[in-house]
Amino acid sequence: SNLYTKAKEEGKTVLSFEVFPPKKTSGIETVYKALDELAKMNPAYISVTYGAGGTEANNTAIIAEKVKSLGVEPLAHLTCVNNDRVSVEKELDEFKSKGIENILALRGDIVPGIEPKKDFLHASDLCSYIKARGDFELAGACYPEVHMEAKDMVEDIKNLKHKVECGAEHLISQLFFDNEVFYKFQDMARCAGIDVPIAAGIMPVTNTKQIQRMVSMCGASLPANFSRIMQKYENNPEALRDAGIAYAIQQIIDLIANGVDGIHLYTMNNPYVAGKITEAIGSML
Ligand code: FAD
Repeated sequence: SNLYTKAKEEGKTVLSFEVFPPKKTSGIETVYKALDELAKMNPAYISVTYGAGGTEANNTAIIAEKVKSLGVEPLAHLTCVNNDRVSVEKELDEFKSKGIENILALRGDIVPGIEPKKDFLHASDLCSYIKARGDFELAGACYPEVHMEAKDMVEDIKNLKHKVECGAEHLISQLFFDNEVFYKFQDMARCAGIDVPIAAGIMPVTNTKQIQRMVSMCGASLPANFSRIMQKYENNPEALRDAGIAYAIQQIIDLIANGVDGIHLYTMNNPYVAGKITEAIGSML
């Protein structure tokens, strides 16, 4: 993909950030402020999440456009679980009109009580559809600890390979705290013939609530040293934040040393945390 080709040729690691639209439109200024800071850190691209059915859905294109105006390449997320062909087409037209060229094609989570739309069953269906239009570069999501609905790693990787064949030109991983888990997944993906760049998703944990939410949402396993350091500082917010940042830096250094294609930082719209990490690793990229 264009976002990774040059870096790969030069033997560099791609650093990217992820932000999410605010729950209410009134919060958009807060994201813009965060983006001003994040853009100065010179990431290869900034991705903007897409609410699979919520109110923030429509702000993805607007925020991605803002990213572009700051001189950073935007990657707009798009989910299909609650979109049909007509609404997908509308979103694509809006992305196009705002000059957005990169899309992370996702299915989105199936929410109990909300009947999924039937036009696109999997992210791969969305990839094929968008590719057929011919005007966007595509990324896909991947799961080092296996997607919750998949029977096992083998089935999940088989589906991932299909997604790549349908047009996903690079992959971004779900967050993980144990690098060994990522390396094992990456080896399996390469063995299966998946040869596109795979970025490692890293989330610096800066408060205890975040950990519980993330673990229940995506089932990330927590290495003993990570749990211990989080426990040690659970009543000291500042120390916990610093420990979370230090842990993320340690993960990233190990990933770079092992030749990872990219680091995708889940910034949680927090430029302070992203700044500390960029400061530590910036010259290594
Ligand atoms: P898929 O690739 O469709 O996979 C979903 C499941 O279906 C997997 O178990 C897979 O093995 C299986 N599968 C895939 N293809 C087939 C097939 N052909 N036949 C049978 N089974 C198949 N959610 C949001 O709502 N908004 C966001 O902005 C967002 N951003 C994300 C960014 C990243 C980097 C990641 C990792 C996740 C993100 N998510 C987001 C969450 C994501 O939507 C959920 O994890 C969702 O449950 C799966 O989406 P997917 O695109 O990976 O689905």
